[in-house]
Amino acid sequence: MRARKKNEWLTHEYFRTYRIANIVDAIMRNPFAYLHHLEGLTVNNGIYEFLPPWQKESALHKFIRFIADEVLMNDTDGPTRVPFGPDYLRPKWILPVDAAMLKYGIINEPLFFIPEEFDRTEAPDGEDEPPHTNDPHHVVNACYNYLLDLRWTQVYEDLMSRITDEVFYVMFLNRRALANLNEFLARYVGEVSRDFFDTDEAPLADLFAVDGELKRVRPPMWARRAVFYRDRGRCTACGADLSGLIDTLSVGNYDHMMPLARGGLNDVTNLQLLCENCNLKKSDRVVAPSNRYRRWY
Ligand SMILES: [Zn+2]
Repeated sequence: MRARKKNEWLTHEYFRTYRIANIVDAIMRNPFAYLHHLEGLTVNNGIYEFLPPWQKESALHKFIRFIADEVLMNDTDGPTRVPFGPDYLRPKWILPVDAAMLKYGIINEPLFFIPEEFDRTEAPDGEDEPPHTNDPHHVVNACYNYLLDLRWTQVYEDLMSRITDEVFYVMFLNRRALANLNEFLARYVGEVSRDFFDTDEAPLADLFAVDGELKRVRPPMWARRAVFYRDRGRCTACGADLSGLIDTLSVGNYDHMMPLARGGLNDVTNLQLLCENCNLKKSDRVVAPSNRYRRWY
């Protein structure tokens, strides 16, 4: 589990924010079509990371981080290179990951320049060709090796946190996407038996009420506040204004979109604001959250 920074303010740079959000959204619409790609998240007990309640590094953060990492890995193969330097006719070329770190101020200079393409000119008489000319993949390999090493560094970790925070910011409003994500993860949670855990994993086993169902844990104030303001103080089903209630942030107004009884998580991305009536009516059923939003003005 990652500790999240306390800083309440984000400085957005919008580096591929919407591109990554778009990919995450597309995958969430039909996650089972992408199961093979998502194995890194779900196999080898990957789902256990999602179980502890009310992590600020939410299920969506974990998901975005995973996809953003894949996108940057995919961007190593050259076509998405970015020009760098004052000479725009003959720029040096850098990878998107370096461009992103520069943009976010995580680094001051590129850490890596993409090497020159395969040199097709003949080596002068009597001289050996430069070693890389024997390997048509040397550019791609150099880029790939750079990124593989980079992924273990703090600067990369910082970049992932920044990108993840920004994508989360734009996606948190999309209740349907969040419900899709939670429905997907619920399939895995629902299959967890407490017998799976070794004795040293007792804290994980203790999170379950019964096999496949997590215990209900009261949402903390930060989660209730986030959802209350996201949903603008109104029941997402009937539109009733809840901001006038004496206990505005009463736990009874927060619904687990994917019910705990169906494998749902205690996660901020699994909550929506419902008035008590609508919450009682919905009970433990799975109902697609409303996709109605009030205009800004
Ligand atoms: Zn209502």
